[in-house]
Amino acid sequence: MTGLRPVLAAEIPRQRLDTVPGVAETLEALAATASACTLCGLSAGRTTVVFGMGDPHADLMFVGEGPGAEEDRQGLPFVGKSGQLLDQLMWEEMGRRRDRCYIANVVKCRPPGNRDPQPDEITACRPYLDQQIELIDPRVIVTLGRFSSQLLADTSTGITKLRGAIYPLGDRVLVPTYHPAAVLRGGGQTMAEMRADLVRAKRALSP
Ligand code: URA
Repeated sequence: MTGLRPVLAAEIPRQRLDTVPGVAETLEALAATASACTLCGLSAGRTTVVFGMGDPHADLMFVGEGPGAEEDRQGLPFVGKSGQLLDQLMWEEMGRRRDRCYIANVVKCRPPGNRDPQPDEITACRPYLDQQIELIDPRVIVTLGRFSSQLLADTSTGITKLRGAIYPLGDRVLVPTYHPAAVLRGGGQTMAEMRADLVRAKRALSP
């Protein structure tokens, strides 16, 4: 995180699904559109568009913040240290590996130096995320960290207050939790809280 002020969801203009980049009929078509995207300045510095990975029909989706250096190189989300922790906690608390979920990010291109994504970048990328959610149609969405949590919950409430509960999101369930990078920094207490959130997500999948 940089010292920049947090992005408030209220600052992010709502976009309709039928605006840029156009409504895709399939996840593959949407990924193809994204692979050539130049809707924001992040496109200039990317190696790869990190669209997402996993089961395109998963009932469980994770949404992170944006790709880091390793993700940008490999073109896959959460393949660095944060991803290893996500895999570990998903397995230990939910009994799932990443081929039984879908993983995406708020922004699909790496912010330089891993800085926070800016409001205009989030706005430009939002139609991709909205359409991913529509096409995958997960029952439960776990948001990792404040950017995805505030965006999908449409709130400026901080992640510490948001997490620890589940929220209706249309006919889906939203489970906000910490970003794994924050857990790596924060240690024991945050780790225990993220574990508890993943148990909430597991229960929401099979009520
Ligand atoms: N952090 C994120 O938010 N997303 C990734 O894909 C990797 C690290």
